[in-house]
Formats: sequence, structure tokens, C-alpha cells
Amino acid sequence: MADPATQTATTATTTTPLLQAENLTRHYRVSQGLFKPKATVKALAGVSFSLQPRQTLAVVGESGCGKSTLARQLTLIEPPTSGRLLLGGVDAAGASKSALKALRQQVQMVFQNPFASLNPRASIEATLNEPLLINTALTQAERRERIEALLAKVGLRSEHLRRYPHMFSGGQRQRIAIARAMILSPAVVVADEPVSALDVSIQAQILNLFMDLQAEFGCGYVFISHNLSVVEHVADDVLVMYLGAAVEYGPKTRLFAQPLHPYTRALMSATPALRAADRRERISLHGELPSPLNPPSGCAFHQRCPLAVARCSVEAPLLRQVDGRQVACHLVAASG
Ligand code: SF4
Repeated sequence: MADPATQTATTATTTTPLLQAENLTRHYRVSQGLFKPKATVKALAGVSFSLQPRQTLAVVGESGCGKSTLARQLTLIEPPTSGRLLLGGVDAAGASKSALKALRQQVQMVFQNPFASLNPRASIEATLNEPLLINTALTQAERRERIEALLAKVGLRSEHLRRYPHMFSGGQRQRIAIARAMILSPAVVVADEPVSALDVSIQAQILNLFMDLQAEFGCGYVFISHNLSVVEHVADDVLVMYLGAAVEYGPKTRLFAQPLHPYTRALMSATPALRAADRRERISLHGELPSPLNPPSGCAFHQRCPLAVARCSVEAPLLRQVDGRQVACHLVAASG
């Protein structure tokens, strides 16, 4: 495990992506009741992206679009049904047990709810000490030194170490959760809605903390969020997902300047803009996200798409390179 101080230099010089997903697919077999055959839910339908050091990829989409399934794949909690996941160029599928353990250390997670993600019976010192005890050969003094250094970086003090989670505010608990994720100097942190449970006044502080830690340690973030204001603040690249698949993927600057997929446009039109010049005409989406148990034919978005044409209900659009990003839409591909 690289020390934070040396990790920065290491990751800055490599060109191998920290994380590379190639056509990641995850299916689940689910029961439909007695005497009925099991059905297949395509929770993730072939997602590809890469993440470089000091980069943040934001994954956006409605609840049920496959974001949480993607997070479970990236953190190696469960294997993909097909496709490949490479961490630092190493294919997780071919890794031995011990290599897999080392890979798991490289990807850590910060959850949405800091009230639920910390063990209420463990002091902060015990929470931060445990990963070091299990995964490193550091002495007690070295562990304590690393914990105190990281605690200072997340804005807490060493006297906090003896306290328990219930003694902290929501923002402080999320700082502790971030410290726990960072304690093993991971290459990648997957953050699942990490500020949505916090007061608005605290959200910007936590987002800035994420960015400061990334600048210092050189790690990459996969930032799952439904809040496009947050995404605009933190992301380098944006992956927009709909029913388990990417519908638009590319640099944040391009997607926010000119979203091309009708679904991306609808999401962005629903985000309040401070400046009048940035306000977009509101595009209302009708109906709910379809069930992945029974996905629509053709383009998965066609039942809700304001621009759908006859072709959309019979032919699924492929992701194509258009204007510096990838888009899956018949109309956009035709104009590109
Ligand atoms: Fe809409 Fe058709 Fe494009 Fe799908 S392919 S997003 S239904 S226009």
C-alpha cells in the first residue's frame, strides 16, 4: 500500500486508468412466484468508461437506473455477469484470492447516510484503526500517527478519536466516513450520494473536502448523484444512465454546455440555474422508469421521450461518438 505522500507522485506519472469498465453487465435471476419460471433482470446492460488519477466521473440518472448495481461492481462486492473491470490495469476477474483482497483495498466506498454507515458502538479511533490493523503491518504508533494525520486533513481533532458517532453532527460523521474510506490510500473512491443526506449549508464544505483530498492523494472518484448542481461542481466526466445503460457519456463541460440526449436534456432542464442565461426550457418527463423486468422494445426511453419517432420503438440506438461525447439516440446520431 502506497503512503499518501508517495501515492500522489506515483499516480500522477502513470497513464494506466485507475479504473476501466468494459461492457459491464449484471443480470439477476428473480423469482416471479410459485409455478412461474424465474425472470432475468438486466440491472446493468453493458456500461463502459475509464477513470484517470485525479478525475471524477459523475454517474447520474433516476432511482432504479442501475447506479447502485454499478457501485457494487466497482467495489468488487459482486462480479459482473459479463464484461471486464480493470483496476490499475489488472483484470479483477482473473485475480487470485490474495490479489482480489489487494484490489478491494484500492476501491473504497462512501455511503449516502453517515448516520447508518458508521458502527455506533465503535469509537472513531477503533473505526479508523480497524482497516489498518487488518490490511497493513503498521505498528500501533504508526497507525495512530496515520489516523491523526488524516483526521486533521478531514477537519477533525485528535480529541475526537475517543468519541462515538452519535456525539457528532451529520457533517462531522460524513467527514469520519470519508476518513475511513481514505485511510488505506485507495486509488478510487466510489461515493454514493455522499451529500444528499446533509444540510445544504454543509454540502459545499463536504464537496470541497472531497476535492482537497483528491488533489492531495491523487485518487479518482466515481460520484453517484441525482443532483446536477453537485455534479457540475465536482465532475470531470459525466455518465448518464437510463434503465441500466449509458445514454450519454463525456466531458462535463460538453454535456452541460449542450446536452444532446433527450433524457440528459430533461434532467438538466429540471435543475434550477442561478443565472438567467443558464436557464433551460423545462422538459417534463411523463411516466415512471420502466421495470427492468420488462424493458420496452427499441430505445428503452421511447415511451417517455418527447422526440420519439416510429423507429425508436423497434430499434435500440447504439452509443456513437457525437460532438466529443458518446450518445445513444437515433436522432442525435443522424445529425452527427
Ligand atoms: Fe428519444 Fe428515439 Fe432518441 Fe430514444 S432514440 S432518445 S426515443 S429520439
